[in-house]
Amino acid sequence: MRARGYAARSAQTPLAPFQFERRTPGARDVHIRIDFCGICHSDIHAARNEWGGTLYPCVPGHEIIGRVVETGKDARRFKEGQRVGVGCFVDSCRVCSHCTAGHENYCEKGVTTTYGSLEADGKTPTFGGYSNLIVVDEHFVLSLPDGLDAAASAPLLCAGITTYAPLREAGVTRGSRVAVMGLGGLGHMAVKLAASFGAEVTVLSHSPRKAEDARRLGAREFVLADRPRALAGLAGRYDAIVDTISARHDISGPLNCLRREGTLILVGASPEPLAVSPFSLIAGHRTILGSLVGGMPQTQEMLDYCGSQGITSDIEMTPPDRINEAYDRACSGDVKYRFVIDCAQF
Ligand code: NAP
Ligand code: ZN
Ligand code: ZN
Repeated sequence: MRARGYAARSAQTPLAPFQFERRTPGARDVHIRIDFCGICHSDIHAARNEWGGTLYPCVPGHEIIGRVVETGKDARRFKEGQRVGVGCFVDSCRVCSHCTAGHENYCEKGVTTTYGSLEADGKTPTFGGYSNLIVVDEHFVLSLPDGLDAAASAPLLCAGITTYAPLREAGVTRGSRVAVMGLGGLGHMAVKLAASFGAEVTVLSHSPRKAEDARRLGAREFVLADRPRALAGLAGRYDAIVDTISARHDISGPLNCLRREGTLILVGASPEPLAVSPFSLIAGHRTILGSLVGGMPQTQEMLDYCGSQGITSDIEMTPPDRINEAYDRACSGDVKYRFVIDCAQF
């Protein structure tokens, strides 16, 4: 099937219109008309080859919301017209211990990402959600709860689950003290989710203009973390810190803000290594926990939870022909707090 979208052809060129083929839906596939797709900072890292290894042409996008057009004869989980989501993965081996435990994101054979991977045949590239349609095995399709705004739900498929999963794993609950580093797409979801779990949330930011929003999103405190001695008064305070920063930054100072046995949840994927002072870990018996999105069962759990609480993302809509501008604005922190592409315009 012919699909229309936007692709980066190289690390240096802006994204531009691109037509490509999607497979004809197989027996277990769902053919989805894409309505909305969020712009995650990972899309920008990938399109610009900041992590290395990007396959071009690259059609980014893994925060996908759409409607089912048709289903294969053995695909029974979804009905025509149903509102559905697709996140960061579209396939995995299904038999390893991680896949069978519902942690497809950590598949031992390597998960097939929604874009920038090769399909199981080892040769067909995957193309993401900056497009008008997609065909996905029903196992990797999620149901969007009624009542949630479709466009504002798109970022739940990555920013939402990437913060929900480790907040749950770290046991964040009523009365927990949580700090969130970086108030961007992931950071603002971390604030909303942690606050909804009953945590007392502090935002550690380098952008003074975000103070008011931090409070509106559910934070009790806002600290300009890059000021000298800004963290001095916070030593030993937090049960968990969610680090969503997309570039190189200090983590030893924040580690010292954890209580004994506290956890720094690292989800931000700086292309450059982060330095750690061993004493910031050793002295407090602290942990750094890396976390990659979430598995399919937990992603559905997160969507259902957001449905029950009325939680979505704060978004700004963009048409396809302004994606490059949106990338530049996202990189300068000029978005409240996630761009979502109107995919009906592809
Ligand atoms: P984003 O919307 O651009 O937000 C990143 C935030 O980091 C910014 O809003 C800014 O917050 C802060 N920041 C940026 N540059 C900084 C710098 N040089 N020094 C200090 N703070 C800085 O990005 P996002 O979409 O939330 O993604 C964040 C990171 O998570 C990216 O690296 C992305 O690739 C990664 N990611 C990881 C996963 C995973 O599974 N682990 C999933 C999705 C995304 P302030 O203005 O408040 O300081
Ligand atoms: Zn993402
Ligand atoms: Zn597997």
